[in-house]
Amino acid sequence: MRRVAALVAALIAALALAAPALADPALEALQQGSAYVSPAVGGTGTADAQARLEAVADDLERAGRPVRIAVVTGPAGAASMREYAAALRRRLAFAGLVVAVAPDRPTGVAGPRTQAAMTRDLRAARVGAITDPIQRADAAARAAAGPPLAPTSSDSTRALLGLLGIALIGGVWAAAFGIRRNRRVRRDEMVDRTAMARVRLDAIGARLDVLAVLPEHHARADDRLDAALRVARRAQAELDQATAADEVPAAEALVTEAFGLLRDAEREAGVPSPEDPFEGLCRCDPAHGAASTEATMRPDDIVRPSCAACRDRAAEGHPQMRRMVPSPAGPIPFDEAPLAEAPEGPSA
Ligand SMILES: [Zn+2]
Repeated sequence: MRRVAALVAALIAALALAAPALADPALEALQQGSAYVSPAVGGTGTADAQARLEAVADDLERAGRPVRIAVVTGPAGAASMREYAAALRRRLAFAGLVVAVAPDRPTGVAGPRTQAAMTRDLRAARVGAITDPIQRADAAARAAAGPPLAPTSSDSTRALLGLLGIALIGGVWAAAFGIRRNRRVRRDEMVDRTAMARVRLDAIGARLDVLAVLPEHHARADDRLDAALRVARRAQAELDQATAADEVPAAEALVTEAFGLLRDAEREAGVPSPEDPFEGLCRCDPAHGAASTEATMRPDDIVRPSCAACRDRAAEGHPQMRRMVPSPAGPIPFDEAPLAEAPEGPSA
């Protein structure tokens, strides 16, 4: 039975390769709805499978993370499932996440978040180990859409900034502040208390992204990476849920632990592992990721290492404001604030 299914899948994939690209039924279906399951994959369960994935898409849509899901027999003429997902997203002119799954192929995702961040989350959710394509599409959509945490997490802020073309930089902290304004807890004080931990956590996330897409992994580095990711997630959740000042130190301790694990993973992977959490990252905001160039930055108009987006904005005459954190003397750039404590204990 499986063999027949595989043969049918192969035949259909061959047909899809031969057919003109416009005739992709997934593309047509996703212009109307949020999920498509090829009958060649879903068999008699196609309608149920499609309903299940539509429900997943509805869930994510409600959480502000629009998604389109395609379960197909193969990448329909594209070089890989990832390219197929990117092509679908382009042809749908869709701003959200596109997930493309086929039996026995790596999962393809394309969306407003960076490929590195999505890859990291797919890995963390062990999506690649799920053989059932419907189940895998479900898991991949939830994972790649962002962490299953409170919507105030920096990932969703980052995704939002991504959607806006990172035009609102300086804004991760500002956005977190704005969202939290709506909360009835002692929010201003809590944002102040957690701002520095959030910057450090974003730096850790950016460095984890760099590690997650290294072409060569080995088991020990992977284990450390997974451990660092898990602890970073917990730290994020603690920061998001903290409503009283006495809850902050526990979250800060988790951030410190995640940083230690990140540095272990960096050493295992044989990449530089600076003690300064911000070194090598965009000096406008560590959440932007690795510094690949330089740019003038506000408020002092000094040229510093930056990401490409910050350089482009500066070149257009709009130098970006550096991410600020509160201090007794008023807001100061994130890397001028003293770290509340040593970023890690004595390293092993
Ligand atoms: Zn930047």
